Amino acid sequence: MPPDSINLEIVTVRCLADNYAFVLHNSATGQTALVDAPEAGPVQAELDARGWTLSDIILTHHHWDHIDGLEPLRNDGVRVIGAAADAHRLPALDLAVNDGDRFDLCGEKAQVFDVSGHTINHIAVFVPAAKAVFTADSLMALGCGRLFEGTPAQMWRSLQKLRELPDDTMVYSGHEYTENNAKFALSIEPDNPDIISRVRATIAARAKGEATVPSRLADEKRTNPYLRADDPVLMSALGMLNDSPTEVFAEVRNRKDNF
Ligand code: ZN
Ligand code: FE
Repeated sequence: MPPDSINLEIVTVRCLADNYAFVLHNSATGQTALVDAPEAGPVQAELDARGWTLSDIILTHHHWDHIDGLEPLRNDGVRVIGAAADAHRLPALDLAVNDGDRFDLCGEKAQVFDVSGHTINHIAVFVPAAKAVFTADSLMALGCGRLFEGTPAQMWRSLQKLRELPDDTMVYSGHEYTENNAKFALSIEPDNPDIISRVRATIAARAKGEATVPSRLADEKRTNPYLRADDPVLMSALGMLNDSPTEVFAEVRNRKDNF
């Protein structure tokens, strides 16, 4: 028997300077969903080329580079989904969700995670059948979003939730920031062989213009410094073996902000 996810296709759409939007399509049901709307043009072009019509749009957080393309993409039947707690600063929602909620997305079960940190009430959506989690500016390839609103403790808690997902989950994050993240990761752990090889692969992919998103969660668990604030290898590299994971996380984030 083929896995359930066989019908669910995920297409990456490049938007603006370095944003990613994702289109999900279930060929069995004909449903199509969009994760984030940085700008309408490239998304509409992708939909037109494939003959798909949007049924759902998920908004991960309120930043302009994730919502500004929404209105032109809204059609009569579309359901706009976002965090209930952020409804006051998101475009009008048809489905307001909270941490732990489950809803049907393109005929598959989807689960909501509150991943506050980059912003308060930022959400991530996990689709187990597709082995996919849409994280936008929370967990990113070799990185995490800058803490505009949340505290290090909040972001660390959010990332720990995502870290519990299965290793073979693909992480669909919101920006192509990986090369810069890789150089930073190497600056704090220049001798870590896993990081060295991922940095090489990242630079090679970017030189060919390839996307480094999505990334495999197993690789993030092994190399992403923000997911490893309790990893003795990273703690030792920072000289912080006796500090709490929250303090280690805060130090990594602070160093990156000044990198
Ligand atoms: Zn953002
Ligand atoms: Fe963003």
